[in-house]
Amino acid sequence: MTTFLGTPGVGNLRGDESFPKAARTALADSQLRRNIGHATHTIRTKRLAAVAECDDWEQLRAAGSALKQDVMARLPELLEQLESNVTRRGGVVHWARDGEEANRIVADLIRATGSGEVVKVKSMATQEIGLNEYLEANGIAAFETDLAELIVQLGHDKPSHILVPAIHRNRAEIREIFDREMPDAGELTDEPRVLAMAARAHLRRKFLTAKVAVSGANFGVAETGTLAVVESEGNGRMCLTLPQTLITVMGIEKVVPSFTDLEVFMQLLPRSSTAERMNPYTSMWTGVHPGDGPQEFHLVLLDNGRTRVLADEVGRPALHCIRCSACLNVCPVYERTGGHAYGSVYPGPIGAILSPQLTGTTGHNDPNASLPFASSLCGACFEACPVRIDIPTILVHLRAQQVDQERTGRGVLFSGQDLAMKAAGWAMAGAGRFALAEKALGAGRLIAGRDHRISALPWPASKWTASRDIPEPPAETFRQWWNRTHEGGRG
Ligand code: SF4
Repeated sequence: MTTFLGTPGVGNLRGDESFPKAARTALADSQLRRNIGHATHTIRTKRLAAVAECDDWEQLRAAGSALKQDVMARLPELLEQLESNVTRRGGVVHWARDGEEANRIVADLIRATGSGEVVKVKSMATQEIGLNEYLEANGIAAFETDLAELIVQLGHDKPSHILVPAIHRNRAEIREIFDREMPDAGELTDEPRVLAMAARAHLRRKFLTAKVAVSGANFGVAETGTLAVVESEGNGRMCLTLPQTLITVMGIEKVVPSFTDLEVFMQLLPRSSTAERMNPYTSMWTGVHPGDGPQEFHLVLLDNGRTRVLADEVGRPALHCIRCSACLNVCPVYERTGGHAYGSVYPGPIGAILSPQLTGTTGHNDPNASLPFASSLCGACFEACPVRIDIPTILVHLRAQQVDQERTGRGVLFSGQDLAMKAAGWAMAGAGRFALAEKALGAGRLIAGRDHRISALPWPASKWTASRDIPEPPAETFRQWWNRTHEGGRG
Protein backbone atom coordinates (compact mmCIF):
# COMPACT_ATOMS: atom_id res chain seq x y z
CA MET A 1 0.00 0.00 0.00
CA THR A 2 1.14 3.54 -0.65
CA THR A 3 2.70 5.46 2.19
CA PHE A 4 2.62 9.24 2.19
CA LEU A 5 5.79 9.96 4.12
CA GLY A 6 5.95 13.58 5.10
CA THR A 7 2.25 14.36 5.23
CA PRO A 8 2.15 17.07 7.84
CA GLY A 9 -0.20 16.21 10.65
CA VAL A 10 -0.97 15.61 14.26
CA GLY A 11 -2.76 12.49 15.44
CA ASN A 12 -5.31 12.30 18.21
CA LEU A 13 -6.67 9.06 19.51
CA ARG A 14 -9.91 8.87 21.39
CA GLY A 15 -11.75 6.46 23.62
CA ASP A 16 -14.88 4.52 22.82
CA GLU A 17 -17.13 7.51 22.31
CA SER A 18 -19.79 8.25 19.70
CA PHE A 19 -18.90 9.95 16.43
CA PRO A 20 -20.54 13.33 17.28
CA LYS A 21 -18.43 13.65 20.46
CA ALA A 22 -15.19 12.52 18.83
CA ALA A 23 -15.88 14.70 15.78
CA ARG A 24 -16.23 17.76 18.01
CA THR A 25 -12.71 17.16 19.35
CA ALA A 26 -11.36 16.61 15.84
CA LEU A 27 -13.09 19.75 14.52
CA ALA A 28 -11.36 21.82 17.18
CA ASP A 29 -7.99 20.65 15.82
CA SER A 30 -7.52 23.01 12.88
CA GLN A 31 -4.05 21.63 12.17
CA LEU A 32 -5.46 18.11 11.76
CA ARG A 33 -8.21 19.44 9.47
CA ARG A 34 -5.68 21.26 7.30
CA ASN A 35 -3.42 18.23 7.09
CA ILE A 36 -6.12 15.72 6.22
CA GLY A 37 -7.64 18.22 3.78
CA HIS A 38 -4.29 18.71 2.05
CA ALA A 39 -3.58 14.97 1.81
CA THR A 40 -7.03 13.93 0.60
CA HIS A 41 -7.09 16.79 -1.93
CA THR A 42 -3.78 15.57 -3.40
CA ILE A 43 -4.96 11.94 -3.69
CA ARG A 44 -8.34 13.06 -5.06
CA THR A 45 -6.81 15.17 -7.81
CA LYS A 46 -4.44 12.40 -8.91
CA ARG A 47 -7.27 9.86 -8.90
CA LEU A 48 -9.47 12.03 -11.09
CA ALA A 49 -6.70 12.26 -13.68
CA ALA A 50 -6.07 8.48 -13.60
CA VAL A 51 -9.76 7.73 -13.99
CA ALA A 52 -10.20 10.26 -16.81
CA GLU A 53 -7.67 8.30 -18.90
CA CYS A 54 -10.05 5.34 -19.04
CA ASP A 55 -12.68 5.67 -21.77
CA ASP A 56 -14.58 2.69 -20.41
CA TRP A 57 -14.45 3.64 -16.72
CA GLU A 58 -18.23 3.58 -16.30
CA GLN A 59 -18.46 0.17 -18.01
CA LEU A 60 -15.69 -1.12 -15.72
CA ARG A 61 -17.59 0.16 -12.66
CA ALA A 62 -20.76 -1.53 -13.88
CA ALA A 63 -18.83 -4.78 -14.49
CA GLY A 64 -17.27 -4.62 -11.01
CA SER A 65 -20.68 -4.07 -9.45
CA ALA A 66 -22.28 -6.91 -11.44
CA LEU A 67 -19.47 -9.30 -10.47
CA LYS A 68 -19.89 -8.49 -6.80
CA GLN A 69 -23.65 -8.98 -7.01
CA ASP A 70 -23.06 -12.38 -8.58
CA VAL A 71 -20.63 -13.29 -5.78
CA MET A 72 -23.16 -12.37 -3.10
CA ALA A 73 -25.87 -14.41 -4.84
CA ARG A 74 -23.64 -17.51 -4.97
CA LEU A 75 -21.45 -17.02 -1.90
CA PRO A 76 -21.80 -20.50 -0.28
CA GLU A 77 -21.16 -22.29 -3.58
CA LEU A 78 -18.13 -20.11 -4.44
CA LEU A 79 -16.58 -20.50 -0.99
CA GLU A 80 -16.88 -24.27 -1.15
CA GLN A 81 -15.27 -24.21 -4.59
CA LEU A 82 -12.45 -22.05 -3.22
CA GLU A 83 -11.96 -24.43 -0.30
CA SER A 84 -11.83 -27.44 -2.57
CA ASN A 85 -9.23 -25.86 -4.89
CA VAL A 86 -7.02 -24.53 -2.09
CA THR A 87 -7.07 -27.97 -0.45
CA ARG A 88 -6.36 -29.75 -3.73
CA ARG A 89 -3.22 -27.65 -4.14
CA GLY A 90 -1.83 -28.36 -0.69
CA GLY A 91 -3.37 -25.59 1.43
CA VAL A 92 -5.55 -26.01 4.52
CA VAL A 93 -8.80 -24.09 4.88
CA HIS A 94 -10.27 -23.07 8.25
CA TRP A 95 -13.70 -21.50 8.81
CA ALA A 96 -14.09 -18.83 11.50
CA ARG A 97 -17.52 -17.67 12.62
CA ASP A 98 -16.17 -14.58 14.37
CA GLY A 99 -13.02 -12.71 15.30
CA GLU A 100 -12.46 -14.72 18.44
CA GLU A 101 -12.47 -18.00 16.57
CA ALA A 102 -10.22 -16.62 13.82
CA ASN A 103 -7.72 -15.29 16.38
CA ARG A 104 -7.66 -18.63 18.17
CA ILE A 105 -7.07 -20.52 14.91
CA VAL A 106 -4.20 -18.22 13.90
CA ALA A 107 -2.54 -18.34 17.33
CA ASP A 108 -2.77 -22.15 17.44
CA LEU A 109 -1.24 -22.41 13.97
CA ILE A 110 1.65 -20.13 14.94
CA ARG A 111 2.25 -22.06 18.18
CA ALA A 112 2.35 -25.31 16.22
CA THR A 113 5.35 -24.00 14.25
CA GLY A 114 7.24 -23.34 17.50
CA SER A 115 7.66 -19.68 16.58
CA GLY A 116 6.99 -16.76 18.92
CA GLU A 117 6.78 -14.08 16.24
CA VAL A 118 5.23 -13.34 12.85
CA VAL A 119 5.65 -10.78 10.08
CA LYS A 120 2.45 -9.27 8.75
CA VAL A 121 1.24 -7.98 5.42
CA LYS A 122 -1.11 -4.97 5.71
CA SER A 123 -4.56 -6.42 6.37
CA MET A 124 -7.84 -4.79 7.30
CA ALA A 125 -9.40 -8.16 8.23
CA THR A 126 -6.78 -8.83 10.94
CA GLN A 127 -7.21 -5.28 12.24
CA GLU A 128 -10.95 -5.86 12.35
CA ILE A 129 -10.53 -8.89 14.63
CA GLY A 130 -7.76 -7.33 16.75
CA LEU A 131 -5.30 -10.10 15.85
CA ASN A 132 -2.13 -8.24 16.90
CA GLU A 133 -3.52 -7.55 20.37
CA TYR A 134 -4.69 -11.15 20.72
CA LEU A 135 -1.29 -12.51 19.67
CA GLU A 136 0.50 -10.15 22.04
CA ALA A 137 -1.70 -11.32 24.92
CA ASN A 138 -0.71 -14.87 24.00
CA GLY A 139 3.02 -14.18 23.94
CA ILE A 140 3.41 -13.90 20.16
CA ALA A 141 4.96 -10.76 18.65
CA ALA A 142 3.41 -9.53 15.38
CA PHE A 143 5.50 -7.16 13.25
CA GLU A 144 3.69 -5.00 10.70
CA THR A 145 5.75 -4.63 7.52
CA ASP A 146 3.76 -2.09 5.49
CA LEU A 147 5.64 1.16 6.10
CA ALA A 148 2.60 3.15 7.20
CA GLU A 149 1.38 0.30 9.40
CA LEU A 150 4.87 0.06 10.89
CA ILE A 151 4.75 3.77 11.77
CA VAL A 152 1.33 3.28 13.37
CA GLN A 153 2.49 0.20 15.29
CA LEU A 154 5.77 1.70 16.53
CA GLY A 155 3.92 4.89 17.50
CA HIS A 156 1.41 2.81 19.59
CA ASP A 157 -1.19 4.55 17.48
CA LYS A 158 -4.26 3.59 15.45
CA PRO A 159 -4.67 3.77 11.66
CA SER A 160 -6.67 6.78 10.46
CA HIS A 161 -7.18 5.85 6.79
CA ILE A 162 -7.73 2.58 4.91
CA LEU A 163 -4.99 3.19 2.37
CA VAL A 164 -2.76 5.67 4.19
CA PRO A 165 -2.97 4.57 7.83
CA ALA A 166 -0.40 7.15 9.03
CA ILE A 167 -1.93 10.06 7.10
CA HIS A 168 -2.11 11.99 10.40
CA ARG A 169 1.65 11.79 11.09
CA ASN A 170 4.25 14.24 9.83
CA ARG A 171 7.89 13.59 9.02
CA ALA A 172 9.19 14.99 12.28
CA GLU A 173 6.88 12.73 14.25
CA ILE A 174 7.93 9.71 12.19
CA ARG A 175 11.60 10.49 12.86
CA GLU A 176 10.89 10.73 16.58
CA ILE A 177 9.07 7.39 16.52
CA PHE A 178 11.90 5.68 14.62
CA ASP A 179 14.52 7.25 16.91
CA ARG A 180 12.68 5.93 19.94
CA GLU A 181 11.66 2.50 18.66
CA MET A 182 14.57 1.53 16.38
CA PRO A 183 17.69 1.86 18.54
CA ASP A 184 19.98 0.65 15.75
CA ALA A 185 18.58 3.00 13.08
CA GLY A 186 21.63 5.32 13.20
CA GLU A 187 21.51 9.07 12.49
CA LEU A 188 18.03 10.03 11.26
CA THR A 189 16.72 13.18 9.59
CA ASP A 190 13.24 14.24 8.42
CA GLU A 191 14.12 13.28 4.83
CA PRO A 192 11.60 10.72 3.50
CA ARG A 193 14.41 8.73 1.87
CA VAL A 194 16.42 8.50 5.11
CA LEU A 195 13.33 7.40 7.04
CA ALA A 196 12.36 4.87 4.37
CA MET A 197 15.88 3.39 4.33
CA ALA A 198 15.87 3.03 8.12
CA ALA A 199 12.54 1.20 7.95
CA ARG A 200 13.88 -0.96 5.11
CA ALA A 201 16.91 -2.09 7.13
CA HIS A 202 14.72 -2.74 10.17
CA LEU A 203 12.23 -4.80 8.18
CA ARG A 204 14.85 -6.71 6.22
CA ARG A 205 16.09 -8.30 9.44
CA LYS A 206 12.54 -9.39 10.27
CA PHE A 207 11.90 -10.83 6.80
CA LEU A 208 15.07 -12.92 6.92
CA THR A 209 14.41 -14.40 10.33
CA ALA A 210 10.61 -14.84 10.49
CA LYS A 211 9.31 -18.39 10.13
CA VAL A 212 5.65 -17.41 9.89
CA ALA A 213 3.79 -14.69 7.98
CA VAL A 214 0.20 -13.54 8.36
CA SER A 215 -1.59 -11.79 5.51
CA GLY A 216 -5.01 -10.68 4.42
CA ALA A 217 -6.22 -11.11 0.84
CA ASN A 218 -7.73 -8.70 -1.64
CA PHE A 219 -9.18 -11.53 -3.70
CA GLY A 220 -9.57 -15.31 -3.55
CA VAL A 221 -10.31 -17.03 -6.85
CA ALA A 222 -12.81 -19.87 -6.46
CA GLU A 223 -12.01 -21.42 -9.86
CA THR A 224 -8.29 -21.96 -9.12
CA GLY A 225 -7.80 -21.56 -5.35
CA THR A 226 -5.51 -18.57 -6.00
CA LEU A 227 -5.14 -15.80 -3.40
CA ALA A 228 -4.10 -12.25 -4.33
CA VAL A 229 -2.56 -9.44 -2.32
CA VAL A 230 -2.35 -5.98 -3.85
CA GLU A 231 0.29 -3.63 -2.37
CA SER A 232 2.72 -0.89 -3.39
CA GLU A 233 5.95 -1.47 -1.51
CA GLY A 234 7.01 -5.06 -2.10
CA ASN A 235 7.18 -5.67 1.66
CA GLY A 236 4.08 -7.79 1.38
CA ARG A 237 5.76 -9.97 -1.22
CA MET A 238 8.71 -10.55 1.14
CA CYS A 239 6.25 -11.86 3.75
CA LEU A 240 4.40 -13.97 1.23
CA THR A 241 7.50 -15.70 -0.14
CA LEU A 242 10.23 -15.94 2.53
CA PRO A 243 8.69 -17.58 5.65
CA GLN A 244 8.05 -21.32 5.86
CA THR A 245 4.42 -20.90 6.92
CA LEU A 246 1.86 -18.50 5.52
CA ILE A 247 -1.49 -17.87 7.23
CA THR A 248 -4.02 -15.79 5.31
CA VAL A 249 -7.13 -14.34 6.95
CA MET A 250 -9.73 -13.45 4.31
CA GLY A 251 -13.24 -12.04 4.70
CA ILE A 252 -15.65 -14.42 2.97
CA GLU A 253 -16.88 -11.63 0.66
CA LYS A 254 -13.47 -11.39 -1.04
CA VAL A 255 -14.03 -14.48 -3.16
CA VAL A 256 -14.38 -13.98 -6.94
CA PRO A 257 -15.61 -16.67 -9.33
CA SER A 258 -12.83 -16.85 -11.93
CA PHE A 259 -9.31 -15.70 -12.66
CA THR A 260 -10.48 -13.49 -15.53
CA ASP A 261 -12.67 -11.51 -13.09
CA LEU A 262 -9.46 -10.10 -11.66
CA GLU A 263 -8.99 -8.23 -14.94
CA VAL A 264 -11.85 -5.91 -13.95
CA PHE A 265 -10.78 -5.36 -10.36
CA MET A 266 -7.11 -4.93 -11.22
CA GLN A 267 -8.10 -1.96 -13.38
CA LEU A 268 -10.54 -0.46 -10.90
CA LEU A 269 -8.49 -0.82 -7.71
CA PRO A 270 -5.13 0.87 -8.50
CA ARG A 271 -6.72 3.86 -10.23
CA SER A 272 -9.23 4.36 -7.43
CA SER A 273 -6.80 3.94 -4.57
CA THR A 274 -3.29 5.14 -5.45
CA ALA A 275 -4.20 6.73 -8.81
CA GLU A 276 -1.87 4.30 -10.55
CA ARG A 277 -2.58 2.75 -13.94
CA MET A 278 -1.20 -0.56 -12.81
CA ASN A 279 -0.53 -1.86 -9.33
CA PRO A 280 3.21 -2.08 -8.53
CA TYR A 281 3.20 -5.32 -6.49
CA THR A 282 0.45 -7.84 -7.08
CA SER A 283 1.28 -11.18 -5.45
CA MET A 284 -0.69 -14.30 -6.31
CA TRP A 285 -0.18 -17.78 -5.00
CA THR A 286 -1.97 -21.06 -5.37
CA GLY A 287 -1.47 -23.66 -2.66
CA VAL A 288 2.02 -24.97 -1.90
CA HIS A 289 4.90 -25.61 -4.32
CA PRO A 290 7.73 -27.90 -3.11
CA GLY A 291 10.97 -25.95 -2.73
CA ASP A 292 9.39 -22.62 -3.66
CA GLY A 293 7.87 -20.19 -1.15
CA PRO A 294 6.05 -21.16 2.06
CA GLN A 295 5.76 -24.92 2.49
CA GLU A 296 2.69 -24.64 4.67
CA PHE A 297 -0.32 -22.52 3.71
CA HIS A 298 -3.45 -21.93 5.77
CA LEU A 299 -6.48 -19.94 4.67
CA VAL A 300 -8.82 -18.70 7.42
CA LEU A 301 -12.21 -17.75 5.98
CA LEU A 302 -13.73 -15.10 8.22
CA ASP A 303 -17.43 -14.40 8.67
CA ASN A 304 -17.50 -12.03 11.68
CA GLY A 305 -20.88 -10.50 10.85
CA ARG A 306 -20.67 -10.75 7.08
CA THR A 307 -23.54 -13.23 6.76
CA ARG A 308 -25.66 -10.82 8.81
CA VAL A 309 -24.88 -8.08 6.27
CA LEU A 310 -25.59 -10.49 3.43
CA ALA A 311 -29.08 -11.13 4.83
CA ASP A 312 -30.01 -7.45 4.55
CA GLU A 313 -31.01 -6.76 0.97
CA VAL A 314 -30.43 -2.99 1.23
CA GLY A 315 -27.25 -3.11 3.33
CA ARG A 316 -25.69 -6.03 1.43
CA PRO A 317 -23.73 -3.98 -1.17
CA ALA A 318 -21.44 -2.84 1.67
CA LEU A 319 -19.82 -6.25 1.15
CA HIS A 320 -18.92 -5.27 -2.43
CA CYS A 321 -16.19 -2.95 -1.14
CA ILE A 322 -12.69 -3.50 -2.56
CA ARG A 323 -11.08 -1.19 0.08
CA CYS A 324 -9.81 1.40 -2.38
CA SER A 325 -10.53 4.34 0.00
CA ALA A 326 -11.78 6.63 -2.79
CA CYS A 327 -14.92 7.37 -0.75
CA LEU A 328 -12.82 8.62 2.17
CA ASN A 329 -10.88 11.01 -0.02
CA VAL A 330 -13.99 12.71 -1.42
CA CYS A 331 -15.99 12.82 1.81
CA PRO A 332 -16.35 16.31 3.34
CA VAL A 333 -17.08 14.78 6.75
CA TYR A 334 -13.94 12.61 6.72
CA GLU A 335 -11.88 15.58 5.51
CA ARG A 336 -12.96 17.70 8.48
CA THR A 337 -12.88 15.08 11.21
CA GLY A 338 -10.06 12.68 10.21
CA GLY A 339 -10.14 8.93 10.59
CA HIS A 340 -9.89 8.53 14.36
CA ALA A 341 -13.21 10.25 15.03
CA TYR A 342 -15.01 7.26 13.47
CA GLY A 343 -13.48 5.03 16.15
CA SER A 344 -13.84 2.14 13.72
CA VAL A 345 -11.29 0.03 11.83
CA TYR A 346 -13.06 1.08 8.65
CA PRO A 347 -13.30 4.90 8.72
CA GLY A 348 -15.08 7.26 6.34
CA PRO A 349 -18.22 6.51 4.33
CA ILE A 350 -17.54 2.78 3.95
CA GLY A 351 -16.95 2.53 7.70
CA ALA A 352 -20.21 4.34 8.34
CA ILE A 353 -22.13 1.58 6.55
CA LEU A 354 -19.93 -1.46 7.14
CA SER A 355 -18.93 -1.22 10.82
CA PRO A 356 -22.45 -0.92 12.29
CA GLN A 357 -23.64 -3.76 10.08
CA LEU A 358 -20.73 -6.07 10.90
CA THR A 359 -21.03 -5.58 14.62
CA GLY A 360 -24.81 -5.18 14.79
CA THR A 361 -25.44 -2.17 17.01
CA THR A 362 -27.01 -2.47 20.42
CA GLY A 363 -28.91 0.81 20.32
CA HIS A 364 -28.31 4.53 20.42
CA ASN A 365 -25.63 4.31 23.15
CA ASP A 366 -23.48 2.04 21.01
CA PRO A 367 -20.67 4.15 19.40
CA ASN A 368 -21.19 2.33 16.09
CA ALA A 369 -24.86 3.35 16.07
CA SER A 370 -23.87 6.97 15.44
CA LEU A 371 -21.80 6.13 12.35
CA PRO A 372 -24.63 6.19 9.77
CA PHE A 373 -25.16 9.82 10.82
CA ALA A 374 -21.51 10.68 10.06
CA SER A 375 -22.34 11.86 6.58
CA SER A 376 -23.78 14.85 4.79
CA LEU A 377 -25.47 12.52 2.23
CA CYS A 378 -23.90 14.64 -0.51
CA GLY A 379 -23.45 11.57 -2.72
CA ALA A 380 -19.76 12.14 -3.52
CA CYS A 381 -18.89 8.67 -2.16
CA PHE A 382 -21.30 6.96 -4.55
CA GLU A 383 -19.87 8.92 -7.49
CA ALA A 384 -16.32 7.89 -6.57
CA CYS A 385 -16.93 4.25 -5.67
CA PRO A 386 -15.40 1.97 -8.34
CA VAL A 387 -17.96 -0.76 -7.66
CA ARG A 388 -20.91 1.65 -7.51
CA ILE A 389 -21.92 1.06 -3.87
CA ASP A 390 -24.86 3.37 -3.22
CA ILE A 391 -23.55 4.45 0.18
CA PRO A 392 -26.12 7.27 0.74
CA THR A 393 -29.06 4.87 0.31
CA ILE A 394 -27.54 2.43 2.79
CA LEU A 395 -26.86 5.29 5.23
CA VAL A 396 -30.52 6.34 5.12
CA HIS A 397 -31.58 2.70 5.55
CA LEU A 398 -29.34 2.30 8.62
CA ARG A 399 -30.56 5.61 10.07
CA ALA A 400 -34.13 4.35 9.78
CA GLN A 401 -33.10 1.17 11.61
CA GLN A 402 -31.54 3.29 14.37
CA VAL A 403 -34.72 5.31 14.79
CA ASP A 404 -36.75 2.08 14.99
CA GLN A 405 -34.31 0.67 17.54
CA GLU A 406 -34.57 3.85 19.56
CA ARG A 407 -38.36 3.53 19.65
CA THR A 408 -38.21 -0.14 20.66
CA GLY A 409 -35.41 0.39 23.19
CA ARG A 410 -37.34 3.11 24.94
CA GLY A 411 -40.69 1.39 24.58
CA VAL A 412 -42.19 4.44 22.85
CA LEU A 413 -44.28 4.73 19.74
CA PHE A 414 -42.61 7.94 18.60
CA SER A 415 -38.94 8.94 18.61
CA GLY A 416 -37.78 12.56 18.93
CA GLN A 417 -37.46 12.71 15.13
CA ASP A 418 -41.02 11.41 14.72
CA LEU A 419 -42.38 14.13 16.96
CA ALA A 420 -40.42 16.83 15.16
CA MET A 421 -41.65 15.57 11.78
CA LYS A 422 -45.23 15.34 13.01
CA ALA A 423 -45.06 18.90 14.32
CA ALA A 424 -43.62 20.10 10.99
CA GLY A 425 -46.31 18.16 9.08
CA TRP A 426 -49.06 19.73 11.16
CA ALA A 427 -47.67 23.24 10.66
CA MET A 428 -47.28 22.81 6.92
CA ALA A 429 -50.75 21.35 6.40
CA GLY A 430 -52.48 24.76 6.38
CA ALA A 431 -51.52 28.26 5.23
CA GLY A 432 -52.73 29.82 8.49
CA ARG A 433 -50.73 27.41 10.65
CA PHE A 434 -47.66 27.91 8.52
CA ALA A 435 -47.92 31.70 8.82
CA LEU A 436 -48.26 31.30 12.58
CA ALA A 437 -45.21 29.03 12.72
CA GLU A 438 -43.23 31.56 10.69
CA LYS A 439 -44.10 34.27 13.17
CA ALA A 440 -43.09 32.05 16.08
CA LEU A 441 -39.79 31.18 14.40
CA GLY A 442 -39.07 34.90 14.12
CA ALA A 443 -38.52 34.87 17.90
CA GLY A 444 -35.37 32.92 17.16
CA ARG A 445 -33.71 36.26 16.32
CA LEU A 446 -33.70 37.02 20.03
CA ILE A 447 -31.47 34.05 20.86
CA ALA A 448 -29.13 34.18 17.86
CA GLY A 449 -25.49 34.93 18.59
CA ARG A 450 -23.34 37.71 17.19
CA ASP A 451 -22.46 35.41 14.30
CA HIS A 452 -26.21 35.36 13.42
CA ARG A 453 -26.45 31.67 14.20
CA ILE A 454 -28.44 29.76 16.82
CA SER A 455 -26.22 27.12 18.37
CA ALA A 456 -28.14 26.06 21.49
CA LEU A 457 -31.89 25.38 21.91
CA PRO A 458 -33.76 23.80 24.83
CA TRP A 459 -34.81 20.11 24.71
CA PRO A 460 -36.01 18.48 22.47
CA ALA A 461 -34.59 20.90 19.86
CA SER A 462 -31.23 20.64 21.68
CA LYS A 463 -30.79 17.24 19.94
CA TRP A 464 -30.57 19.13 16.69
CA THR A 465 -28.34 21.98 17.89
CA ALA A 466 -25.98 19.53 19.63
CA SER A 467 -24.34 18.91 16.27
CA ARG A 468 -25.64 21.68 13.99
CA ASP A 469 -26.12 25.44 13.89
CA ILE A 470 -29.32 27.07 12.71
CA PRO A 471 -29.11 30.34 10.80
CA GLU A 472 -30.83 33.29 12.44
CA PRO A 473 -34.36 33.74 10.96
CA PRO A 474 -34.54 36.73 8.59
CA ALA A 475 -36.09 39.98 9.85
CA GLU A 476 -38.77 39.64 7.20
CA THR A 477 -40.38 36.37 6.09
CA PHE A 478 -40.96 35.57 2.43
CA ARG A 479 -44.68 36.22 2.79
CA GLN A 480 -44.09 39.57 4.44
CA TRP A 481 -41.71 40.52 1.66
CA TRP A 482 -44.23 39.37 -0.97
CA ASN A 483 -47.07 41.36 0.58
CA ARG A 484 -44.87 44.41 0.85
CA THR A 485 -43.56 44.34 -2.70
CA HIS A 486 -46.55 43.02 -4.67
CA GLU A 487 -49.69 44.96 -4.99
CA GLY A 488 -52.60 42.91 -3.79
CA GLY A 489 -50.21 40.30 -2.40
CA ARG A 490 -51.67 37.96 0.13
CA GLY A 491 -49.72 36.07 2.78
S1 SF4 B 1 -16.98 1.79 -0.59
FE1 SF4 B 1 -16.28 1.97 -2.72
S2 SF4 B 1 -15.03 3.84 -2.73
FE2 SF4 B 1 -15.25 3.24 -0.56
S3 SF4 B 1 -13.45 1.98 -0.12
FE3 SF4 B 1 -15.09 0.57 -0.75
S4 SF4 B 1 -14.81 0.30 -2.96
FE4 SF4 B 1 -13.64 2.10 -2.38
